[in-house]
Formats: sequence, C-alpha cells, structure tokens
Amino acid sequence: MSSESTTFQSEQQRRAYLDGLGVDVWVPRNQPDPPADVDGDVEVPSAGMNWDVLRESVAACTRCPLHEGRTQTVFGVGNANADWLIIGEAPGAEEDRRGEPFVGRAGKLLDEMLRAVGQERGDVFIANILKCRPPNNRDPKPDETKACRGYLQRQIELVQPRIILAVGRIAAQQLLGTDSPVGRLRGTLHFLNEIPLVVTYHPAYLLRSPTQKRKAWDDLCLASHALSEVAA
Ligand code: URA
Repeated sequence: MSSESTTFQSEQQRRAYLDGLGVDVWVPRNQPDPPADVDGDVEVPSAGMNWDVLRESVAACTRCPLHEGRTQTVFGVGNANADWLIIGEAPGAEEDRRGEPFVGRAGKLLDEMLRAVGQERGDVFIANILKCRPPNNRDPKPDETKACRGYLQRQIELVQPRIILAVGRIAAQQLLGTDSPVGRLRGTLHFLNEIPLVVTYHPAYLLRSPTQKRKAWDDLCLASHALSEVAA
C-alpha cells in the first residue's frame, strides 16, 4: 500500500484511478430514499449551524416521537476534524443512559476494530443515523430517519471526513439510499457526495457471528486503502 496521497481534478479522474488500482467502485443509480438533503424536499434544520448550535439543536429536538422516550440525545463523539467518520444505526439502552454512541459490548468491539487499523476512539468521529433511542431497539422508522437526517448531514459537512465507515444494514441502506443487504454492499467502495464510503457488518452482528469478522477486517483494510490513496 502506498502512503502517497493523490489529488484529482474531477470525480471521473478519481474513478479512473481507482479503477486502475483494481478497486471496484459502486455508485448507486436509483436512490429510492436519498441521503441527507440531496432530494431537495427534506427540511434541513441544521444547514449552516456550527458545532455548538448543532449540538444544542439536537439536544432540544422534538422533530419525531422518539424524543418522548429518550433519557438524552446521543449526538456523536470524537475528533471534530477526523479522517474517519463511523456511522451506526441508533443509540441502544446503554448509549441512551450515557449519551455516547457505541459504549456497550458492540462498542467495545468497534473500538477493537478501529484499533486494528491504527485508530483510537478519540481519533475518529462516531455518530448514528438516529440521535434518539428507538424503543426496544427496533429498526428506525422512515419518518424518524427523515427527521434526523439533517443533523447527520451537517455533522458530515463539519467533520469533512476522508473516509466514511457505515456499520450495519440501517446505516448502509440509509446513507446509500438502497435496500440491498450488507452482504452485497460490503467489499466495494461507494461514494457519498464524493466522500469514499465503505460498508461493513455491525459489531453487534459480529458478536453473534464471529466467523464474519474476517470479512469485517477486509472491509477495514479497504477503507484504510481508500484513505491512503485518495486525497481530501
Ligand atoms: N448500535 C449502533 O448502531 N449505535 C450505537 O450507538 C450503539 C449500538
């Protein structure tokens, strides 16, 4: 793996470069549920906000019914200028209690996965699709993901990551606007508004299916490789 970084004049040039490296670039054509504000009909409450205002706005959010059951919002944590942005699904019980994403058993495994590619929790930024815990850890509903979307969109704009790691089905499908399963989405390089994005298994799934850890390792290597090859 080369440690050189490469600057590209255009997206087309970058794709050609990645193609030359043998990196399979997957670009969604039809996005039934587009990410963030790109479809133009989603109200984006957080456009232009700085970190403090965004954080306060999330803490006070009542845009969907999930606010009624939360202990607190889980904004996200880490380095505000991180190269790596890790995006999960939604807070669980422990995260709701502590106000920090990925602090339960799955979070410990996520920390180990990151350490394997030389990243500590404080080096990266970790956020979720939803900032409030869904009851009984059920899947997010469409109106909830839509209500929360602008917050994540603004976090991405503020962090300006060089690589996004989408962990698990919900994060991957929401960010890429597809209903393809993780097994199909992982293993290739995607782009979200020109930011390279890699999909991998959710650490909670890896705790239940440890034999899949090898594939998660491959995904992390793909993300690392993309980060080292593609300049910001
Ligand atoms: N699972 C997630 O997707 N996010 C968390 O913050 C915790 C568990």
